[in-house]
Amino acid sequence: MSVIIVGGGMTGSTLALAISSLTAGKLPVTLIEASRPEPHKAPEARALALAQGSCQQLQRIGIWSALSGCATAITRVQVSDRGHAGLVNLRAEDYAIAALGQVIELHEAGRHLFALLDKAAGVTLCCPDRVAGVTRTQSQVTVTLDSGKTLQGQLMIAADGSSSPLANLCHIHSQVYNYQQVAVTATLTTARHPAGCAFERFTHNGPLALLPLSQGRSSLVWCHRLADHQTVAGWDDAHFLQQLQQAFGWRLGKILKVETRHSYPLRLVRASTHISHRLALVGNAAQTLHPIAGQGFNLALRDAISLAELLAKAAERKDDVGAWPVLSHYQECRRTDQHNTVNLTDGLISLFANHHQPLVAGRNLALMVMERLPLLRAMFARRALGWIEH
Ligand SMILES: Cc1cc2nc3c(=O)[nH]c(=O)nc-3n(C[C@H](O)[C@H](O)[C@H](O)COP(=O)(O)OP(=O)(O)OC[C@H]3O[C@@H](n4cnc5c(N)ncnc54)[C@H](O)[C@@H]3O)c2cc1C
Repeated sequence: MSVIIVGGGMTGSTLALAISSLTAGKLPVTLIEASRPEPHKAPEARALALAQGSCQQLQRIGIWSALSGCATAITRVQVSDRGHAGLVNLRAEDYAIAALGQVIELHEAGRHLFALLDKAAGVTLCCPDRVAGVTRTQSQVTVTLDSGKTLQGQLMIAADGSSSPLANLCHIHSQVYNYQQVAVTATLTTARHPAGCAFERFTHNGPLALLPLSQGRSSLVWCHRLADHQTVAGWDDAHFLQQLQQAFGWRLGKILKVETRHSYPLRLVRASTHISHRLALVGNAAQTLHPIAGQGFNLALRDAISLAELLAKAAERKDDVGAWPVLSHYQECRRTDQHNTVNLTDGLISLFANHHQPLVAGRNLALMVMERLPLLRAMFARRALGWIEH
């Protein structure tokens, strides 16, 4: 009995490690990844905010100790609307916890996860390699790789990212909603140390988030209208810093330096189904969200842990891990959380993308009321930002 995972990004890697940990290596896993995160490769300027609940899950499956060394704690979150009074402050001490969440740099996290995968019980890495073709029979799947290798197993898992090529090969289609926005990411250095503070600001161009990193740096995600993308991409660093300073303000003093910028077109992509014969979809392959609420990997991790738990139980009973009842149980038990998280993120984007005056006034009122009502603020922290366990 064995499982084949295609895609070793954050989702595929953590899923492989979760299966290894929960089955003590008794359910063999082969992980196929096109490119290994290496120190010499140009790092992608992207950081992930992990909810405290996600860190606890990562600890449970033995991953957190490897990631915690490169993580920065979020102790405060400030939400504001440019040009308006509404402002919400969320502080870890208000919830009697040490941190609201943690920030990890994607590339560094990838390297730590691969170091764990190299020695994980029951895990075989095929990297660098790619899927060239798949065939499914009633009782198994066969995957052929670019290298010429052939793998067989009871279950294939697509963790190969947005608009999953594996799902496409298996005739699963996606619904795509284009937000007509582009996210610009970069690492910043500011005159004032962020000291654990994350910022979420709704600017005229689109939402802007700053996450605290090590050595006093911050990770920026700044969303722009697609129509403005060429203009923004054409700004030199000095002009970019000037525009950013204007949009963000002086909460961290002067913004001194911006490192290489990257752009991501923003779309909501949802696979029409998350299971098919001997196939399950996880992470961005199942649903890709707008990044501003920081929910993408937090949701992917909940999917991956649920799937790993169901597979571990099936393996313990010596059941077929790729059988339909196991897969449909996975799809069923993830449906509500996925639905709520997608709707919440989508709702936030629509609310804050809107320049209609009554709505602007309404959301500022909501931010101000929230600042004064701790219970409402806690709900917002839990659900809207995903900083705290769901
Ligand atoms: C700007 C931005 C900011 C974000 N911020 C946050 C945040 O703060 N918090 C949060 O929770 N989420 C955030 N997200 C979302 C988060 O990045 C993703 O949800 C997360 O990285 C999980 O991705 P994944 O592993 O599912 O897919 P991917 O990262 O796309 O990984 C897919 C992997 O599959 C491999 N692959 C593809 N095809 C093949 C093939 N045929 N054969 C072999 N390998 C293949 C690729 O090489 C890749 O490594 C953000 C996203 C963006 C764009």
